[in-house]
Amino acid sequence: MKAIGVLVSGRGSNLQALIDAAAANTLGGRIAVVVSNLENAPALDRARRKRPLSPEFGALSELLTALAVGRRPQLPDEAVCLECKRRGKVCVLVARDVPCLGPVTHTGCGAMCPAFDRGCYGCFGPREAANATSLAAWFGRDGRSDADTAALFSGFTAYAKPFRAVIDQLGGPPGPSNPLEPGAGTGDQGEASDARH
Ligand code: SF4
Ligand code: SF4
Repeated sequence: MKAIGVLVSGRGSNLQALIDAAAANTLGGRIAVVVSNLENAPALDRARRKRPLSPEFGALSELLTALAVGRRPQLPDEAVCLECKRRGKVCVLVARDVPCLGPVTHTGCGAMCPAFDRGCYGCFGPREAANATSLAAWFGRDGRSDADTAALFSGFTAYAKPFRAVIDQLGGPPGPSNPLEPGAGTGDQGEASDARH
C-alpha cells in the first residue's frame, strides 16, 4: 500500500477529503505523514483529531513540522514498551527471552521491532528517564554475559549518554570506546580493546 504525505497550511479541507477517501478505501494508499509550514495551522488539529496516522508516522509528522517552523519536536517521553502494549503485542523479552531495549528507548516507531517478534535495539535513542544501568543489571541476572549486554547497547545510539555509560561499565564493545577521541585510529585501539576483554 502506498504511503502518502500531505502538505498543509490552511484549514485542511483537502486533507479531510483524503482522510474520507482513506476511510472509504478509495484512496489507494494510507496517509503516512502530514507536514505544515505553519505551527498553528488548523489542518494539523484536523490530522490529530482524526488520527489518520500510525504512531511512527505521527512522530515523523511532528518532527518534520517542528523542523519546518523552527522549533524543537514535542514527542512524549515514553518507552517503546508503552507502544507495544497499545498494539497488544506479546512481550518478546518475557515470552521468548529475546533481549529488548524497549524499556529504556524513546517511543515514536510504533514498537516496530517487537511487532515483528524481535527485540528493540534502541535506534530511537534513550528516553529521558531511561535507567539503562538497571536494565543492563537485569540482563546480567538473567544470565547474559557483560559482552553480550554491552553489544546490545552498542547500536546506532551507542554514544547517547545512558547507553554509553552501560557500555563503558561493562568493558565496551571491541574497538575504540570513542572514535572521535584523540588516539583513535592510530593503532592503540587494539591494545585498549584487549585490556577491556
Ligand atoms: S517486547 Fe520489548 S518493548 Fe515490547 S513490552 Fe517487551 S520489553 Fe517492552
Ligand atoms: S530498534 Fe528502533 S524501530 Fe526497532 S523497536 Fe527499537 S526504537 Fe523501534
